[in-house]
Amino acid sequence: MTQADVIIIGAGHGGAQAVISLRQLGFSGSILMVGREPEPPYERPPLSKEYLAREKEFERLYIRPRQFWADKSVDLMLGAEVVAVDPSNRSVRLQDGSEISYGDMIWATGGDPRRLSCPGGDLKGVHGVRTREDADAIMGELEGVDQVAVIGGGYIGLEAAAVLTKLGKKVVLLEALDRVLARVAGPQLSAFYEAEHRAHGVDLRTGVSVSEILGEGGKASGVKLADGEVIPAQMVIVGIGIVPAVAPLIEAGAEGGNGVLVDAHCKTSLPHIYAIGDCAAHANGFADGAVIRLESVQNANDQAKVAAQSILGTAQDYAATPWFWSNQYDLKLQTVGLSTGHDETVLRGDPATRSFTVVYLKQGHVIALDCVNSVKDYAQGRKLVEARAAIPAAQLADISLPLKDLLPA
Ligand SMILES: Cc1cc2nc3c(=O)[nH]c(=O)nc-3n(C[C@H](O)[C@H](O)[C@H](O)COP(=O)(O)OP(=O)(O)OC[C@H]3O[C@@H](n4cnc5c(N)ncnc54)[C@H](O)[C@@H]3O)c2cc1C
Repeated sequence: MTQADVIIIGAGHGGAQAVISLRQLGFSGSILMVGREPEPPYERPPLSKEYLAREKEFERLYIRPRQFWADKSVDLMLGAEVVAVDPSNRSVRLQDGSEISYGDMIWATGGDPRRLSCPGGDLKGVHGVRTREDADAIMGELEGVDQVAVIGGGYIGLEAAAVLTKLGKKVVLLEALDRVLARVAGPQLSAFYEAEHRAHGVDLRTGVSVSEILGEGGKASGVKLADGEVIPAQMVIVGIGIVPAVAPLIEAGAEGGNGVLVDAHCKTSLPHIYAIGDCAAHANGFADGAVIRLESVQNANDQAKVAAQSILGTAQDYAATPWFWSNQYDLKLQTVGLSTGHDETVLRGDPATRSFTVVYLKQGHVIALDCVNSVKDYAQGRKLVEARAAIPAAQLADISLPLKDLLPA
């Protein structure tokens, strides 16, 4: 049986950073990283941005050059999927039946795109966007496509819509809720992005539900809405969230459900098993201690550092400030903090100028910022979020006052 002192399951953002941190912290034992995809770790965000737009080649997405892993004495086992975990024997089983024993494990498996439950959801031409394979499949089929239906008005759906519009496709975006980005941002931001997409020619519809993907010869040909309307589309892109890839861990007895539950040191309820990134449900101080999963590069990287420290016995509680970005057209959105639970928003600047900030407050304290083409506010506002500063709305709204000057001494 193969043996590794630390086994990392998942060769994505979190897995890569876990290796980097372990070696940086001086860990000299053997490390084996097992990844289901055929590629060494690469950046996922460009899959719905520069890579899909053909502005960046895949080679430029690698998190580290291919040689890096060997230089750090890390064994990569790619195209391999862990299907079972035996915590009492400290071993995992792969899809080919082989077994690997470990000293400690970091589970960093992210998630799989949530699939449509309606008829036709598995037709050819219906795509999620999670892996290089997904993006390549979309790019490979685009030539014969005139109209694309994007289902889901979250960041990935909106980014894909922006790129495909730029590539000259007619895009219809279908969102079930009454506004886009409803789960992650306030109404001002949603309204701004809806207007932007419409101005770029996207037929953006909210409050619509999809009842069926229609097909011809096994391939998508349109989307049927609940009211009977049929939207012709030769390609359907589905961006309706992910299902955390935690089944083997939950079957092995780990606490969790929507993700695997971890403590402040990224430890699961199973001995010697840590979990990080999109699949890790954790109590987050920026969400008032609510147990949440964060789907961001920041969270994957910062939890990876904590898990590496935990293995070395030097862990500090996970308390990193959440941040995220999204690129659509020439708009760069940067967010800091978590806006969930806000009871007040302050608009800083005029959305018509395409450079503004939405400040989110809870009981008078700044908890998050969404900054559109507003790098300065993002950089300076971070401290307000970290301090949970209590600042009068009138001051936050006054763009003549730099945010850094509002931080109480
Ligand atoms: C299109 C797209 C755009 C995004 N844009 C942004 C952005 O702009 N900003 C931002 O902060 N975040 C963005 N994200 C989110 C960000 O990419 C994720 O939060 C991040 O990748 C999470 O890292 P992770 O290590 O948890 O999971 P991943 O990076 O998804 O890595 C998990 C890996 O584990 C593998 N795996 C799963 N199960 C198994 C198994 N049983 N055995 C072996 N391997 C397994 C998976 O195949 C995958 O390769 C985007 C994501 C996508 C898909």
